[in-house]
Amino acid sequence: MVAQRRLPTTLRTRLRHLEQKWPDPGCLGCRDRRGRIAFALVRALADGSVVPVAGYPEPCERCGQVPERIIREIEPYGAPGRRTGSVT
Ligand SMILES: [Zn+2]
Repeated sequence: MVAQRRLPTTLRTRLRHLEQKWPDPGCLGCRDRRGRIAFALVRALADGSVVPVAGYPEPCERCGQVPERIIREIEPYGAPGRRTGSVT
């Protein structure tokens, strides 16, 4: 004799349980970029601000955010060749 397995009552119940387990995917435009790391070279200016030189990722077209975790390599103002790392 085979024991009958109990099934969830409705599809709606099953879906609700699935939705509770599933984390919010957030913006669909940059979902696959989140959690990645990008290296960018930036240059420090005299006033203390920095401008991107190379490698800075484009913002998401949908939400306007840059989802990658950016590791900036800073080229100090007036001192080419001397660089210091910074994680943002
Ligand atoms: Zn986005």
